[in-house]
Amino acid sequence: MLQDTVRQFAQSSLAPKIETLDHEEGFNRESFYKMGELGLLGIIVPEEDGGTGMDAVAATITMEEMGAVDASTTLSYLAHTILCVNQIAKNGTPEQKKKYLPKLISGEHLGGMGMSEPGAGSDALGMKTKAQRSGDQYVINGSKTWITNGPNGDVFYVYAKTGEGKRDVSTFLIERGMPGFSTGKKFSKMGMRASPTGELVFADCRISAAQRVGEEGSSIKMMMRNLDIERITISGISLGIARASIEVATRYAKERSQFGKPIGAFQQIQERLAEASAWYEACRCLTYDAAKMWDMGMMVGKEASMMAAKAKLQSAQMATKVALDAIQILGGYGYTREFPVERYMRDAKLMEIGAGTNEIQRVIIARQMLGEAADA
Ligand SMILES: Cc1cc2nc3c(=O)[nH]c(=O)nc-3n(C[C@H](O)[C@H](O)[C@H](O)COP(=O)(O)OP(=O)(O)OC[C@H]3O[C@@H](n4cnc5c(N)ncnc54)[C@H](O)[C@@H]3O)c2cc1C
Repeated sequence: MLQDTVRQFAQSSLAPKIETLDHEEGFNRESFYKMGELGLLGIIVPEEDGGTGMDAVAATITMEEMGAVDASTTLSYLAHTILCVNQIAKNGTPEQKKKYLPKLISGEHLGGMGMSEPGAGSDALGMKTKAQRSGDQYVINGSKTWITNGPNGDVFYVYAKTGEGKRDVSTFLIERGMPGFSTGKKFSKMGMRASPTGELVFADCRISAAQRVGEEGSSIKMMMRNLDIERITISGISLGIARASIEVATRYAKERSQFGKPIGAFQQIQERLAEASAWYEACRCLTYDAAKMWDMGMMVGKEASMMAAKAKLQSAQMATKVALDAIQILGGYGYTREFPVERYMRDAKLMEIGAGTNEIQRVIIARQMLGEAADA
């Protein structure tokens, strides 16, 4: 039922707009109100907190269905729902949940998450943004970059250092309009162009201590756990992009004729399609298996991180390769905006960078396999 509902929503609310929004680097803000009505924005938030009370499998299905049509809006949806809303529901105080969740779950407010910084990407714990306690307030200084929904978001779940140690990380809820907080430049990107990405700037941003989420200096575990579910659910976007690429390429291989026969009769085209389909199915199994194990509580700690990293690594590489192959199958048309496969390829590439690069996923997997030997 969820799959059908999201598929219909994607066709009616995302499909008609994405080509123009991708071209103009716009944003489908209206779709978030509709997602709110459908209960998608609080999909894994418990019902008692105003959410839909579903799980990681459901969120991944949603990502795949939306991702097959419009990966950009789906990326913004992921940042809103998994990185912001879910984290407030999981870690916020009753007051914070009451204050922020209703408008985020209805779509009235747009959320985002700020972890990465200009000098701290893969090495997230190398962040320099500092929150200094001052009586019953904190004063935040520093900046975050690459923040999805940064240019147009209302509420941000932001990590900052509250001590000198690498692990002294705390979390703060930051609202647009708070004194000393501003959003910097919006980046112009190769893909995911209808998902605004930008900077968050803190210049003596003074906030009440009530904006802190959890105990001071205790955020690393929450941050890592969220990265795991992010990596599982974002793999749904890779699956969606790959599925759409395969559909377009298969149709084209049946319709396009050269040398007096459909190009699908050529074994080199068949090989590309067959490999794409098999790799997509393999990644689908891996991703939904990871989501299911997550939901059943079968994965904790480093084991969860490894499984999430495997799903993310394979799905991301698969999506890029499959989208590239789709372009090849479409020949010259694949290289133009006449067909969506060039957009699929541009969007897929982000899957190999955002939520931790391929290289970092390999580091996570190898460390778990090799233990201390990996860091010798
Ligand atoms: C469109 C987009 C949206 C994003 N949204 C968000 C968001 O909402 N919130 C947020 O906090 N962040 C967000 N990010 C940031 C994203 O998570 C980072 O870009 C990513 O973690 C990589 O960091 P970096 O870009 O600084 O690259 P770097 O860390 O500088 O890496 C550069 C290269 O070095 C490699 N490398 C680094 N360390 C190692 C290592 N130990 N071993 C081997 N290779 C290594 C990398 O794999 C990469 O190839 C977004 C990024 C993009 C592009």
